[in-house]
Amino acid sequence: MDKIKKILITKQGKKFYVRDMDKDFHTQYGFVKKEDLKKIKDETVLKTNTHKEFAIFSPFFADLYRKIKRDAQIIPLKDVGLIIAETGINKNSKIIDAGSGSGALACFLAHLCKEVVTYEIREDFIEIVKKNIEFLGLKNIKIKNKDVYSGIDEKDIDLVVLDLPEPWKAITNAKKALKVGGFLVSYSPSIPQTMDFVNEIHKNTNFVHVKTSEIIEREWEVEERKVRPKSRGIGHSGFISFCRRI
Ligand code: SAH
Repeated sequence: MDKIKKILITKQGKKFYVRDMDKDFHTQYGFVKKEDLKKIKDETVLKTNTHKEFAIFSPFFADLYRKIKRDAQIIPLKDVGLIIAETGINKNSKIIDAGSGSGALACFLAHLCKEVVTYEIREDFIEIVKKNIEFLGLKNIKIKNKDVYSGIDEKDIDLVVLDLPEPWKAITNAKKALKVGGFLVSYSPSIPQTMDFVNEIHKNTNFVHVKTSEIIEREWEVEERKVRPKSRGIGHSGFISFCRRI
């Protein structure tokens, strides 16, 4: 994946991603000449040949993150937000993530934390994760081609996040990896998985279940006096269970 060099944005919020500054850049609103692209500084207003205006800026993590490759179902931002807020992870935190999938959650956490080790059993997914790590320029993620149900090698971990079909099978391994007080978070799309996971936690003397939540985000349209929820429905993603290692 080529690196994104600049972002063009219309006043209506439509974004375009410039990867090659040595070529004219074409959009549905006409094109910007490569000579104009080269001259830009932040705060330059660019005009296409049809006089459409774009503001321009260099990409932030949030811009790049939206463009990563996604083959497995990635965890949505609303749910990433809850995990970060509830666990209070920071630049000193060490995290285990399993399974990697497209590496979306692992990459977001690595952007904020000291170190992430992500476990994945499928080699085709590992290739996608590698590409995403490189695209985002992250240096603090390790990928392990290993079944997390068979063991976690790391110790002294602040947070273990599970996003896989049978999370209860990783509880004993998470216990060995986590610091006392550390968080075990499990993300499951369906209630039977959530139920089996939390019931196992209830039986386990090394964990307490803190809470299980679902985040419902409703986006609104705000245009002149047309101010109302967007008509697209609220999709379902997953239930998030938070536990502490004791
Ligand atoms: N959280 C990820 C998506 C995870 S999808 C993201 O945000 O991108 C679930 C992944 O778990 C799949 O890629 C699957 O191959 C992997 N997986 C399933 N069982 C596993 C196991 N026992 N150990 C490691 N990875 C596993």
